[in-house]
Amino acid sequence: MELETFRRRAHELVELMVDYWARVEALPVRAQVRPGEVAARLPKSAPEEPEAFEALLEDVERIILPGLTHWQHPRFLAFFPANASPPAILGEMLAAAFAVNGLIWEGSPAATELEQVVLDWLRQAIGLPEGLRGVIQTTASEATLTALLVARERATGLRARDQGLSGLPPMAVYASEEAHSSVEKDVGIAGFGRRMLRRIPTDERLAMRPEALEAAIREDLARGIRPTAVVATLGTTGTGACDPLAPIGAICRRYDLFLHVDAAWAGSALILPEWRHLLAGVEQVDSFVFNPHKWLMTNFDCSAHFVRDADELVRTFEILPAYLHTRDRGRVVDYRDWGIPLGRRFRALKLWFVLRLYGLEGLRAILRRHIALARELAGWIEAEPDFRLITGPELALLTFRFEPAGLDEAARDALNRRLVQAINDDGRTYVTPTVVRGRPVIRLCVGVLRTERRHLEEAWRAIVELARGLV
Ligand SMILES: *Cc1c(COP(=O)(O)O)cnc(C)c1O
Repeated sequence: MELETFRRRAHELVELMVDYWARVEALPVRAQVRPGEVAARLPKSAPEEPEAFEALLEDVERIILPGLTHWQHPRFLAFFPANASPPAILGEMLAAAFAVNGLIWEGSPAATELEQVVLDWLRQAIGLPEGLRGVIQTTASEATLTALLVARERATGLRARDQGLSGLPPMAVYASEEAHSSVEKDVGIAGFGRRMLRRIPTDERLAMRPEALEAAIREDLARGIRPTAVVATLGTTGTGACDPLAPIGAICRRYDLFLHVDAAWAGSALILPEWRHLLAGVEQVDSFVFNPHKWLMTNFDCSAHFVRDADELVRTFEILPAYLHTRDRGRVVDYRDWGIPLGRRFRALKLWFVLRLYGLEGLRAILRRHIALARELAGWIEAEPDFRLITGPELALLTFRFEPAGLDEAARDALNRRLVQAINDDGRTYVTPTVVRGRPVIRLCVGVLRTERRHLEEAWRAIVELARGLV
């Protein structure tokens, strides 16, 4: 493609992008295709000869768009949001054009140093202590794995890294019953063994019970197992519960455990001073992750990972082939030593665009709007006959159940499972099923950039109508 053609096509694509954002509201939120339907409409092999751009765009419209679940749809209330925003998209476009690889400082000093600076802006913005240093990882799953690997090396004095785990005493990791599935996956990948994840019981608010944590640690010690790390959650995926960092941190110090905090979704809300109390005890954490790619208007992927001891992180991952020796090594940050991949995209750019073009006050206003909307929605649920608010709203996340009279609990369970299917098949909104204290519930999270009150009203009206239609 000639550069002048690229210029023209790029302008056309920007038109398409803006039009998409304008029309997304009219589309069903969840893709309404069957498994295999998209693939069946695509050729089995790549074209031998170049094709026309127009043909490509036609297929985007005809094949790709119907196969999209619209995460930027203002009535998207499922999972957690994966926000995009105009500033972040502009930053992504520029990063795609520069296309540098920030594996080492020399790979692009601006990529490394902007990442250092912007992550320190973020650290201050969410109220983490001075001295914690930041790196962008791809996902929270990956940041948690990185943290667990550092914990493993701290516990074994780098023996696990160099000789493997055989011959070492078994090591245990602790997280609440409500912790994200990625923790269990990471515990397995890190070589602890999934069965060495201790699921600590929770209290009535579904937060980890510190005394149960301590009891589990003591039990392991008595059996010759090495307690190694705790993963505390701020904002669980199911209900938004927050583990109490202060008592958990004190236990970690007492028994010499590494403390990692998974604040993937809720961490963004820490830019709001009124939510800072969630950080009480944070001075005891070794590692902390949250995802600007969830609720801070920054396109996926962008996971902000902060560590207390960057040297410990580097010791875990550093490996130095001859072709990566540079004159400035030791005087600069080489982010390849701060995690699993070698190559890295210039992700700090989009974050910089977001922070500068919204300002922290602009971002705070968006999050406060989402939180206020979730409160309003909770009020509608409580006011609606036969509906019951089960948890929350915690920040902008709540769960509820449809409980018409005359049905026993088992029948209500089945009804709520059917209701989720009906809502998501209908397409006006999109929600997530989950289980709270053993019972199926419907989970809603407000948090898409363009969600306004009227979208929530439309979504809620659709839910009530579909529910009434089932009985
Ligand atoms: C979303 C989420 C994750 C996983 O995030 P990824 O960045 O997709 O890996 C982990 N933990 C919690 C609490 C989450 O909400």
